[in-house]
Amino acid sequence: MGPDLVLLNGKVFVPGADPAHRFAQAIAVAGDRVLAVGTSAEIAAMADAHTRRVELKAHVVIPGLNDAHFHHTPDPRATRIVTSFEPTWEEVLDALSAAVKEASIGTWILGTHGIQVVNDPRATRFELDRVAPNHPVRSNCYFGHGSLINTKAMAALAMSEEEPDPLGGCCERVANTNRITGKLFGYAQWGPWRRLADKASISEAVSDAQQLAREAVGLGITSMQNMSLLGSDRYVEVLKQAELPIRVRVIRFPATRLGARDLNEGRRLPKHPGETGRITVSGTKWLLDGTPLERRAHLRKEYRDRRGWSGQFYLPEDEMRAMLRESLQDDGPLLVHAVGDKTAESFLNAMDAEGGRAKWGNRRVRIEHGDGLLPDLIPRARDLGVVVVQNPSHFVFKDIFVARYGEKFDYVPARSMIDAGIPFALGSDGPMNPYLNLMFAVTHPGRPAEALSMEQAVDAYTQGSAFAEFQENEKGTISPGKLADLAVLSQDIFAAPVDSVPATTSVLTIVGGKVVHNSETLTVPN
Ligand SMILES: [Zn+2]
Repeated sequence: MGPDLVLLNGKVFVPGADPAHRFAQAIAVAGDRVLAVGTSAEIAAMADAHTRRVELKAHVVIPGLNDAHFHHTPDPRATRIVTSFEPTWEEVLDALSAAVKEASIGTWILGTHGIQVVNDPRATRFELDRVAPNHPVRSNCYFGHGSLINTKAMAALAMSEEEPDPLGGCCERVANTNRITGKLFGYAQWGPWRRLADKASISEAVSDAQQLAREAVGLGITSMQNMSLLGSDRYVEVLKQAELPIRVRVIRFPATRLGARDLNEGRRLPKHPGETGRITVSGTKWLLDGTPLERRAHLRKEYRDRRGWSGQFYLPEDEMRAMLRESLQDDGPLLVHAVGDKTAESFLNAMDAEGGRAKWGNRRVRIEHGDGLLPDLIPRARDLGVVVVQNPSHFVFKDIFVARYGEKFDYVPARSMIDAGIPFALGSDGPMNPYLNLMFAVTHPGRPAEALSMEQAVDAYTQGSAFAEFQENEKGTISPGKLADLAVLSQDIFAAPVDSVPATTSVLTIVGGKVVHNSETLTVPN
């Protein structure tokens, strides 16, 4: 019997070192797998009476994109504080006052702020309370490091006036007192985040996840590796009910308590919960430091714009060693957020102390972001088999990099890690649009010399991300035997002007041989 589906007369991106031969014309799919890739004549000749034929009309086909680093956390129903992307504190307060007029007394008001608010000493709960004395308010920082809650929210989220810092967390405090200001860093955010996410009902969370998956398939994303701030047991329950068309890897992202990390979260979950086979539970992620935006990435030198301060560890080297041992005991992948070079170096030291290359060479320990893998650390990371997952949306902060690091800096590498042979993957960790991220990957506004080619960037977003989840034999390339997870794109991203790339969409997305999104640009017979 012939293939179930053939896609003909397209430009099919296939793996290969030779750039001249990276495109085929056609694909045959049987069941949930790719059967063959070749010229349109070769593939058309395989078809029989039952085969469905799709004319690609010269559209580009890439492997389904695999977002290796995403945070989907459903929020409960709330009124939003509407501001610009990078608001001033005054703008937040004005927008909050507008939200207060709309929200019924006692209901949640949620917002998002950025670098200016995190670094503004006026941004405290006391000022939020003046504008919103009767509503619980939480504003998250878009880069995840510095959220803000008011006094009503503290009560609703079980935080006390003198809440102690959990391991790896910092509550900012009123000078010379133990009273917290409502601004939270690192693991101090986890308790309130988790308790707020738990207030979303399962059905609210299910429809939130379904909406996310609709956006994903419209962009040709077929796999997401998600670190939710909802506990992983509850998140898996949400996914089982949501029956999403995409593949989701649930990565445990546990909290800490006073003096200890929570080692039990999600521990009893099966590896493949649910009926669809598209949900995988694997790996644990820990946060080792902050970011340069709020100056809590831990550097080996002082910040140029804050003398005597070089950031901090959230989890220090003895905790790093302990999490490495736990990863061996559980035979579970380990992922660490490490941004500063001091943090990256300490983590590599911890790997050496826990057995070095012999123990770790094949375990694919992931460094998320890897901005601090400076030239002396790159060969060490490669020798230890470290996989780096980068987020191109972070490449844009050129002015911040210069302010924090100086005019010349080696931070935020990308191409040099690939050149050194480090397995390299991409994830969004922010705006989900993969084409926006691809544009940033091929321009690298913060350090243009580190920009990737579009081919390298697509490889990282597909094969690289599959490798980063031990799935490279199942997906990540369009080749015989692999899952038929494909995206047919609205334009040729390999030839289009780079500023037009973010507007790309998927006109046809296929997961496991099944059409999960069709914009009707192409005709797919029933
Ligand atoms: Zn992240």
